[in-house]
Amino acid sequence: MDWNKLEQEMVSLRRGFHKYPESAWTEFRTSSLAAERLSALGYELKAGPDTVDLPSVMGRPSEAEIDLHIARAKEQGGSAVWIDRMRRYPGVAAVLSTGRPGPVTSLRFDMDCVDVEESKAAEHRPNKEEFASVNALLAHACGHDAHTAIGLGTAEVLMAEKDSLRGEIRLIFQPGEEGCRGAYAMTQKGVVDGSDYFLALHIGIGLPSGVFALNSKGHLCTTKFDAEFTGRTAHAAGAPHEGRNALLAAAAAALSLHAVAPHSDGSMRVNVGVLEAGTGRNVIPGRAVMKAETRGETQAIADYVYERAQEVLKGAALMYGTEVKVVRTGAGTDADGDAPLVAKIGEAVRELGIFREIRESASAGGSEDATWMMRRVQELGGQAAYMVLGSDIAAPHHNGAFDIDERVLVPGVKALAAIVKALSGAGAPGA
Ligand SMILES: [Zn+2]
Ligand SMILES: [Zn+2]
Repeated sequence: MDWNKLEQEMVSLRRGFHKYPESAWTEFRTSSLAAERLSALGYELKAGPDTVDLPSVMGRPSEAEIDLHIARAKEQGGSAVWIDRMRRYPGVAAVLSTGRPGPVTSLRFDMDCVDVEESKAAEHRPNKEEFASVNALLAHACGHDAHTAIGLGTAEVLMAEKDSLRGEIRLIFQPGEEGCRGAYAMTQKGVVDGSDYFLALHIGIGLPSGVFALNSKGHLCTTKFDAEFTGRTAHAAGAPHEGRNALLAAAAAALSLHAVAPHSDGSMRVNVGVLEAGTGRNVIPGRAVMKAETRGETQAIADYVYERAQEVLKGAALMYGTEVKVVRTGAGTDADGDAPLVAKIGEAVRELGIFREIRESASAGGSEDATWMMRRVQELGGQAAYMVLGSDIAAPHHNGAFDIDERVLVPGVKALAAIVKALSGAGAPGA
Protein backbone atom coordinates (compact mmCIF):
# COMPACT_ATOMS: atom_id res chain seq x y z
CA MET A 1 0.00 0.00 0.00
CA ASP A 2 1.34 3.42 -0.97
CA TRP A 3 0.44 5.21 2.25
CA ASN A 4 1.53 8.65 1.04
CA LYS A 5 -0.78 8.39 -1.94
CA LEU A 6 -3.61 7.12 0.25
CA GLU A 7 -3.07 10.00 2.68
CA GLN A 8 -3.28 12.54 -0.15
CA GLU A 9 -6.48 10.92 -1.42
CA MET A 10 -8.02 10.90 2.04
CA VAL A 11 -7.16 14.52 2.78
CA SER A 12 -8.64 15.53 -0.53
CA LEU A 13 -11.79 13.45 0.07
CA ARG A 14 -12.15 14.84 3.59
CA ARG A 15 -11.75 18.41 2.40
CA GLY A 16 -14.34 17.84 -0.32
CA PHE A 17 -16.85 16.52 2.21
CA HIS A 18 -15.93 19.42 4.50
CA LYS A 19 -16.56 22.04 1.83
CA TYR A 20 -20.00 20.63 0.95
CA PRO A 21 -21.46 19.60 4.31
CA GLU A 22 -24.89 17.97 4.38
CA SER A 23 -27.22 17.67 7.36
CA ALA A 24 -29.12 14.56 8.48
CA TRP A 25 -30.99 12.68 5.71
CA THR A 26 -29.69 15.05 3.03
CA GLU A 27 -26.20 13.51 2.55
CA PHE A 28 -26.78 12.90 -1.17
CA ARG A 29 -23.49 14.30 -2.42
CA THR A 30 -21.46 12.61 0.30
CA SER A 31 -23.14 9.20 0.08
CA SER A 32 -23.26 9.15 -3.72
CA LEU A 33 -19.52 9.84 -3.96
CA ALA A 34 -18.87 7.18 -1.32
CA ALA A 35 -21.04 4.72 -3.26
CA GLU A 36 -19.32 5.51 -6.55
CA ARG A 37 -15.92 4.90 -5.01
CA LEU A 38 -16.94 1.71 -3.17
CA SER A 39 -18.49 0.31 -6.31
CA ALA A 40 -15.37 1.12 -8.35
CA LEU A 41 -13.28 -0.69 -5.72
CA GLY A 42 -15.37 -3.82 -6.29
CA TYR A 43 -17.76 -3.79 -3.32
CA GLU A 44 -21.33 -5.04 -3.71
CA LEU A 45 -23.63 -2.20 -2.76
CA LYS A 46 -27.03 -1.64 -1.28
CA ALA A 47 -28.26 1.94 -1.22
CA GLY A 48 -31.22 4.09 -0.22
CA PRO A 49 -34.38 2.30 1.00
CA ASP A 50 -32.55 -1.06 0.74
CA THR A 51 -30.54 0.13 3.77
CA VAL A 52 -33.22 2.08 5.63
CA ASP A 53 -36.54 0.96 7.17
CA LEU A 54 -38.74 3.83 6.03
CA PRO A 55 -41.38 3.71 8.83
CA SER A 56 -38.52 3.92 11.40
CA VAL A 57 -37.00 7.08 9.94
CA MET A 58 -36.86 9.97 12.43
CA GLY A 59 -36.20 13.67 11.95
CA ARG A 60 -36.13 13.72 8.14
CA PRO A 61 -36.86 17.03 6.34
CA SER A 62 -40.02 17.44 4.22
CA GLU A 63 -40.15 16.00 0.69
CA ALA A 64 -39.98 19.55 -0.73
CA GLU A 65 -36.76 20.19 1.20
CA ILE A 66 -35.36 16.83 0.09
CA ASP A 67 -35.93 17.94 -3.54
CA LEU A 68 -33.81 21.05 -2.91
CA HIS A 69 -31.05 19.03 -1.24
CA ILE A 70 -30.94 16.52 -4.11
CA ALA A 71 -30.65 19.38 -6.61
CA ARG A 72 -27.87 20.98 -4.56
CA ALA A 73 -25.99 17.68 -4.25
CA LYS A 74 -26.06 17.25 -8.04
CA GLU A 75 -24.90 20.85 -8.58
CA GLN A 76 -22.08 20.39 -6.08
CA GLY A 77 -20.55 17.41 -7.84
CA GLY A 78 -22.47 14.44 -6.41
CA SER A 79 -22.85 11.33 -8.59
CA ALA A 80 -26.21 11.75 -10.34
CA VAL A 81 -26.40 8.01 -11.06
CA TRP A 82 -25.98 7.07 -7.41
CA ILE A 83 -28.19 9.90 -6.14
CA ASP A 84 -30.99 8.49 -8.30
CA ARG A 85 -30.30 4.98 -6.97
CA MET A 86 -30.66 6.33 -3.40
CA ARG A 87 -34.36 7.01 -4.11
CA ARG A 88 -34.40 9.97 -1.69
CA TYR A 89 -32.76 8.14 1.27
CA PRO A 90 -28.98 8.58 1.54
CA GLY A 91 -27.57 5.39 3.04
CA VAL A 92 -25.01 2.91 1.74
CA ALA A 93 -24.02 -0.60 2.80
CA ALA A 94 -21.01 -2.06 0.97
CA VAL A 95 -20.17 -5.74 1.22
CA LEU A 96 -16.90 -7.54 0.58
CA SER A 97 -17.58 -11.29 0.41
CA THR A 98 -14.31 -13.17 0.47
CA GLY A 99 -15.90 -16.48 -0.56
CA ARG A 100 -14.06 -18.15 2.34
CA PRO A 101 -15.89 -19.19 5.51
CA GLY A 102 -15.34 -16.79 8.38
CA PRO A 103 -16.95 -14.15 10.55
CA VAL A 104 -19.11 -11.23 9.44
CA THR A 105 -17.51 -7.96 10.54
CA SER A 106 -19.47 -4.72 10.17
CA LEU A 107 -18.02 -1.22 10.43
CA ARG A 108 -20.14 1.92 10.64
CA PHE A 109 -19.19 5.40 9.41
CA ASP A 110 -21.43 8.46 9.81
CA MET A 111 -21.55 11.15 7.12
CA ASP A 112 -23.64 14.10 8.29
CA CYS A 113 -22.60 17.58 9.38
CA VAL A 114 -23.74 19.80 12.25
CA ASP A 115 -26.32 22.57 11.91
CA VAL A 116 -23.88 25.34 12.81
CA GLU A 117 -22.22 28.11 10.85
CA GLU A 118 -18.53 27.60 10.09
CA SER A 119 -16.14 30.18 11.55
CA LYS A 120 -15.25 33.05 9.22
CA ALA A 121 -12.00 33.73 11.12
CA ALA A 122 -9.01 34.13 8.82
CA GLU A 123 -6.88 31.81 10.98
CA HIS A 124 -9.44 28.95 10.74
CA ARG A 125 -7.60 26.48 8.51
CA PRO A 126 -10.52 25.60 6.24
CA ASN A 127 -10.64 29.33 5.37
CA LYS A 128 -6.87 29.62 4.93
CA GLU A 129 -6.70 26.54 2.71
CA GLU A 130 -10.01 27.10 0.93
CA PHE A 131 -12.11 24.16 1.95
CA ALA A 132 -14.52 25.92 4.32
CA SER A 133 -18.23 25.16 4.04
CA VAL A 134 -20.03 26.79 1.12
CA ASN A 135 -23.42 25.64 2.47
CA ALA A 136 -24.99 28.27 4.74
CA LEU A 137 -25.43 27.35 8.41
CA LEU A 138 -23.90 23.91 7.91
CA ALA A 139 -20.42 22.77 8.94
CA HIS A 140 -18.53 19.55 9.59
CA ALA A 141 -18.02 20.50 13.23
CA CYS A 142 -18.00 16.94 14.56
CA GLY A 143 -15.49 15.27 12.24
CA HIS A 144 -17.88 13.04 10.27
CA ASP A 145 -16.13 14.29 7.09
CA ALA A 146 -13.05 12.51 8.48
CA HIS A 147 -15.12 9.42 9.36
CA THR A 148 -16.37 9.13 5.77
CA ALA A 149 -12.82 9.56 4.43
CA ILE A 150 -11.50 6.96 6.90
CA GLY A 151 -14.27 4.57 5.82
CA LEU A 152 -13.28 4.96 2.17
CA GLY A 153 -9.57 4.61 2.97
CA THR A 154 -10.30 1.45 4.96
CA ALA A 155 -12.37 0.14 2.05
CA GLU A 156 -9.39 0.57 -0.26
CA VAL A 157 -6.94 -1.19 2.07
CA LEU A 158 -9.28 -4.12 2.78
CA MET A 159 -10.03 -4.65 -0.90
CA ALA A 160 -6.30 -4.65 -1.68
CA GLU A 161 -5.82 -7.34 0.96
CA LYS A 162 -8.98 -9.35 0.32
CA ASP A 163 -7.09 -12.54 -0.53
CA SER A 164 -5.88 -12.71 3.04
CA LEU A 165 -9.35 -12.16 4.56
CA ARG A 166 -12.13 -14.60 5.41
CA GLY A 167 -15.86 -14.26 5.84
CA GLU A 168 -17.64 -11.03 5.02
CA ILE A 169 -16.81 -7.38 5.67
CA ARG A 170 -19.63 -4.81 5.65
CA LEU A 171 -18.97 -1.08 5.50
CA ILE A 172 -22.05 0.88 6.51
CA PHE A 173 -22.23 4.58 5.64
CA GLN A 174 -24.95 6.08 7.81
CA PRO A 175 -26.92 9.30 7.38
CA GLY A 176 -28.15 11.39 10.30
CA GLU A 177 -26.03 10.62 13.35
CA GLU A 178 -26.42 14.17 14.67
CA GLY A 179 -29.65 14.28 16.63
CA CYS A 180 -29.61 10.45 16.60
CA ARG A 181 -31.76 10.25 13.50
CA GLY A 182 -30.27 7.63 11.17
CA ALA A 183 -28.96 4.50 12.88
CA TYR A 184 -32.27 3.26 14.22
CA ALA A 185 -33.86 3.02 10.75
CA MET A 186 -30.78 1.26 9.34
CA THR A 187 -30.77 -1.16 12.27
CA GLN A 188 -34.47 -1.90 11.73
CA LYS A 189 -33.69 -2.70 8.08
CA GLY A 190 -31.27 -5.37 9.29
CA VAL A 191 -27.99 -3.91 7.98
CA VAL A 192 -26.03 -5.31 10.93
CA ASP A 193 -28.00 -8.56 11.37
CA GLY A 194 -25.78 -11.61 11.20
CA SER A 195 -22.66 -9.68 12.27
CA ASP A 196 -20.22 -11.51 14.51
CA TYR A 197 -18.40 -8.24 15.14
CA PHE A 198 -19.49 -4.62 14.96
CA LEU A 199 -17.08 -1.69 15.08
CA ALA A 200 -17.65 2.07 15.24
CA LEU A 201 -15.20 4.87 15.78
CA HIS A 202 -15.26 8.61 16.50
CA ILE A 203 -12.50 11.12 15.99
CA GLY A 204 -11.51 13.59 18.72
CA ILE A 205 -13.88 13.44 21.70
CA GLY A 206 -11.34 15.02 24.01
CA LEU A 207 -8.38 12.78 23.11
CA PRO A 208 -5.31 14.33 21.45
CA SER A 209 -3.52 13.09 18.32
CA GLY A 210 -1.55 9.91 18.92
CA VAL A 211 -4.01 8.49 21.44
CA PHE A 212 -6.41 5.64 20.69
CA ALA A 213 -9.17 4.48 23.06
CA LEU A 214 -10.48 0.93 22.78
CA ASN A 215 -13.87 1.34 24.43
CA SER A 216 -15.90 4.54 24.55
CA LYS A 217 -18.26 4.32 27.50
CA GLY A 218 -21.21 6.19 28.88
CA HIS A 219 -23.21 7.22 25.82
CA LEU A 220 -26.34 8.89 27.17
CA CYS A 221 -29.74 7.49 26.20
CA THR A 222 -31.71 10.25 24.54
CA THR A 223 -34.94 11.25 22.86
CA LYS A 224 -35.22 14.28 20.57
CA PHE A 225 -38.65 15.78 19.92
CA ASP A 226 -40.52 18.69 18.39
CA ALA A 227 -43.58 20.03 20.23
CA GLU A 228 -46.08 22.17 18.37
CA PHE A 229 -48.53 24.23 20.44
CA THR A 230 -51.72 25.33 18.71
CA GLY A 231 -53.88 28.08 20.22
CA ARG A 232 -56.08 30.72 18.66
CA THR A 233 -55.04 34.10 17.29
CA ALA A 234 -56.98 37.21 18.35
CA HIS A 235 -56.70 41.00 18.60
CA ALA A 236 -54.36 41.72 21.52
CA ALA A 237 -56.43 44.65 22.80
CA GLY A 238 -59.89 44.22 21.26
CA ALA A 239 -60.50 40.55 22.07
CA PRO A 240 -57.60 39.02 24.05
CA HIS A 241 -60.05 36.77 25.91
CA GLU A 242 -60.91 35.08 22.63
CA GLY A 243 -57.26 34.20 21.97
CA ARG A 244 -55.42 31.12 23.23
CA ASN A 245 -51.80 32.06 23.68
CA ALA A 246 -49.52 29.37 22.26
CA LEU A 247 -46.38 31.44 22.95
CA LEU A 248 -47.11 31.55 26.68
CA ALA A 249 -47.90 27.84 26.76
CA ALA A 250 -44.58 27.03 25.07
CA ALA A 251 -42.64 29.47 27.25
CA ALA A 252 -44.16 28.03 30.43
CA ALA A 253 -43.36 24.53 29.18
CA ALA A 254 -39.74 25.51 28.44
CA LEU A 255 -39.20 26.75 31.99
CA SER A 256 -40.90 23.74 33.56
CA LEU A 257 -39.02 21.26 31.37
CA HIS A 258 -35.77 22.56 32.79
CA ALA A 259 -37.22 22.01 36.26
CA VAL A 260 -37.94 18.28 35.95
CA ALA A 261 -36.71 16.73 39.20
CA PRO A 262 -33.37 14.89 38.94
CA HIS A 263 -33.24 11.11 39.28
CA SER A 264 -31.44 9.50 42.23
CA ASP A 265 -30.06 6.66 40.07
CA GLY A 266 -27.88 8.84 37.86
CA SER A 267 -27.46 11.87 35.68
CA MET A 268 -29.97 13.29 33.22
CA ARG A 269 -30.25 16.26 30.91
CA VAL A 270 -33.03 18.40 29.44
CA ASN A 271 -32.54 21.03 26.79
CA VAL A 272 -35.00 23.26 24.97
CA GLY A 273 -32.83 24.34 22.04
CA VAL A 274 -35.30 26.21 19.84
CA LEU A 275 -38.49 28.11 20.61
CA GLU A 276 -40.36 29.97 17.89
CA ALA A 277 -43.71 31.67 18.27
CA GLY A 278 -45.87 34.56 17.22
CA THR A 279 -46.46 36.58 14.10
CA GLY A 280 -47.05 40.21 15.13
CA ARG A 281 -46.81 42.57 18.09
CA ASN A 282 -50.56 43.09 18.41
CA VAL A 283 -51.67 39.52 17.77
CA ILE A 284 -52.23 36.83 20.41
CA PRO A 285 -49.83 34.11 19.18
CA GLY A 286 -51.73 31.11 17.85
CA ARG A 287 -48.77 28.80 17.24
CA ALA A 288 -45.45 27.95 18.87
CA VAL A 289 -42.84 25.35 17.99
CA MET A 290 -40.26 23.92 20.35
CA LYS A 291 -37.28 21.67 19.61
CA ALA A 292 -36.08 19.86 22.71
CA GLU A 293 -34.24 16.79 23.93
CA THR A 294 -33.99 14.66 27.04
CA ARG A 295 -31.14 12.37 28.07
CA GLY A 296 -30.36 9.89 30.82
CA GLU A 297 -27.43 7.83 31.96
CA THR A 298 -29.50 4.66 31.63
CA GLN A 299 -32.54 3.85 29.51
CA ALA A 300 -34.69 3.84 32.66
CA ILE A 301 -33.57 7.36 33.62
CA ALA A 302 -34.00 8.56 30.04
CA ASP A 303 -37.54 7.09 29.96
CA TYR A 304 -38.31 8.82 33.26
CA VAL A 305 -37.22 12.27 32.08
CA TYR A 306 -38.92 11.86 28.68
CA GLU A 307 -42.22 10.82 30.28
CA ARG A 308 -42.08 13.70 32.77
CA ALA A 309 -41.36 16.06 29.87
CA GLN A 310 -44.49 14.86 28.06
CA GLU A 311 -46.58 15.58 31.17
CA VAL A 312 -45.07 19.07 31.45
CA LEU A 313 -45.91 19.77 27.79
CA LYS A 314 -49.50 18.59 28.21
CA GLY A 315 -49.88 20.50 31.48
CA ALA A 316 -48.60 23.76 30.01
CA ALA A 317 -50.82 23.35 26.95
CA LEU A 318 -53.88 22.79 29.13
CA MET A 319 -53.06 25.76 31.35
CA TYR A 320 -53.29 28.14 28.37
CA GLY A 321 -56.20 26.41 26.61
CA THR A 322 -54.00 25.25 23.76
CA GLU A 323 -53.18 21.87 22.28
CA VAL A 324 -49.79 20.28 21.90
CA LYS A 325 -48.57 17.70 19.39
CA VAL A 326 -45.24 15.95 19.90
CA VAL A 327 -43.18 14.30 17.16
CA ARG A 328 -40.13 12.21 18.07
CA THR A 329 -37.28 13.27 15.80
CA GLY A 330 -34.43 11.14 17.09
CA ALA A 331 -33.35 8.60 19.67
CA GLY A 332 -30.20 6.95 20.94
CA THR A 333 -29.68 4.29 23.56
CA ASP A 334 -26.67 3.13 25.59
CA ALA A 335 -24.37 0.23 24.82
CA ASP A 336 -21.06 -0.98 26.15
CA GLY A 337 -18.27 -2.70 24.28
CA ASP A 338 -17.81 -6.47 24.74
CA ALA A 339 -14.69 -7.25 26.78
CA PRO A 340 -13.41 -10.12 24.56
CA LEU A 341 -13.68 -7.98 21.41
CA VAL A 342 -12.14 -4.94 23.15
CA ALA A 343 -9.23 -7.17 24.19
CA LYS A 344 -8.70 -8.35 20.58
CA ILE A 345 -8.83 -4.75 19.35
CA GLY A 346 -6.28 -3.77 21.98
CA GLU A 347 -3.92 -6.52 20.86
CA ALA A 348 -4.21 -5.58 17.18
CA VAL A 349 -3.72 -1.84 17.80
CA ARG A 350 -0.80 -2.36 20.19
CA GLU A 351 0.93 -4.62 17.69
CA LEU A 352 0.67 -1.86 15.06
CA GLY A 353 2.84 0.35 17.27
CA ILE A 354 1.72 3.65 15.70
CA PHE A 355 -0.07 5.21 18.71
CA ARG A 356 1.88 6.79 21.54
CA GLU A 357 -0.85 5.91 24.02
CA ILE A 358 -3.64 3.32 24.00
CA ARG A 359 -6.36 3.78 26.58
CA GLU A 360 -8.65 0.98 27.69
CA SER A 361 -11.64 3.31 27.80
CA ALA A 362 -12.79 6.88 27.17
CA SER A 363 -15.81 8.76 28.34
CA ALA A 364 -18.32 9.50 25.58
CA GLY A 365 -19.79 12.68 27.03
CA GLY A 366 -22.79 12.76 24.67
CA SER A 367 -25.14 10.50 22.79
CA GLU A 368 -24.51 8.31 19.75
CA ASP A 369 -26.99 6.29 17.75
CA ALA A 370 -24.54 3.58 16.65
CA THR A 371 -25.58 2.22 20.05
CA TRP A 372 -28.72 0.82 18.33
CA MET A 373 -26.48 -1.19 16.01
CA MET A 374 -24.26 -2.30 18.91
CA ARG A 375 -27.27 -3.48 20.91
CA ARG A 376 -28.77 -5.29 17.94
CA VAL A 377 -25.54 -7.16 17.22
CA GLN A 378 -25.17 -8.05 20.90
CA GLU A 379 -28.80 -9.23 21.14
CA LEU A 380 -28.20 -11.55 18.17
CA GLY A 381 -25.11 -13.05 19.81
CA GLY A 382 -22.35 -10.93 18.24
CA GLN A 383 -19.89 -8.54 19.84
CA ALA A 384 -19.54 -4.78 19.46
CA ALA A 385 -17.07 -2.04 20.26
CA TYR A 386 -16.94 1.73 19.94
CA MET A 387 -13.47 3.28 19.71
CA VAL A 388 -12.05 6.79 19.79
CA LEU A 389 -9.32 7.99 17.44
CA GLY A 390 -7.64 10.90 19.20
CA SER A 391 -7.13 14.11 17.25
CA ASP A 392 -5.97 17.57 18.24
CA ILE A 393 -8.90 19.86 17.53
CA ALA A 394 -9.04 23.59 16.87
CA ALA A 395 -12.24 24.15 18.88
CA PRO A 396 -14.76 21.94 20.72
CA HIS A 397 -17.09 19.61 18.83
CA HIS A 398 -20.13 21.40 17.36
CA ASN A 399 -18.34 24.78 17.50
CA GLY A 400 -18.02 26.63 14.18
CA ALA A 401 -14.23 26.78 14.54
CA PHE A 402 -13.86 22.98 14.93
CA ASP A 403 -11.19 21.36 12.78
CA ILE A 404 -9.38 18.03 13.02
CA ASP A 405 -5.73 17.03 12.67
CA GLU A 406 -5.55 15.40 9.23
CA ARG A 407 -2.41 13.50 10.26
CA VAL A 408 -4.59 11.04 12.17
CA LEU A 409 -6.54 9.90 9.09
CA VAL A 410 -4.04 7.26 7.95
CA PRO A 411 -3.43 5.93 11.48
CA GLY A 412 -7.23 5.59 11.74
CA VAL A 413 -7.31 3.47 8.58
CA LYS A 414 -4.31 1.42 9.69
CA ALA A 415 -6.01 0.71 13.02
CA LEU A 416 -9.31 -0.37 11.46
CA ALA A 417 -7.59 -2.50 8.82
CA ALA A 418 -5.43 -4.17 11.49
CA ILE A 419 -8.49 -4.86 13.65
CA VAL A 420 -10.41 -6.37 10.72
CA LYS A 421 -7.39 -8.51 9.85
CA ALA A 422 -7.12 -9.68 13.46
CA LEU A 423 -10.80 -10.67 13.40
CA SER A 424 -11.09 -11.96 9.83
CA GLY A 425 -7.56 -12.55 8.61
CA ALA A 426 -6.30 -15.95 7.50
CA GLY A 427 -4.18 -16.07 10.64
CA ALA A 428 -6.95 -15.05 13.02
CA PRO A 429 -7.86 -17.48 15.79
CA GLY A 430 -10.21 -20.18 14.49
CA ALA A 431 -8.99 -19.77 10.91
ZN1 LIG B 1 -19.97 13.05 15.91
ZN1 LIG C 1 -21.66 15.52 16.85
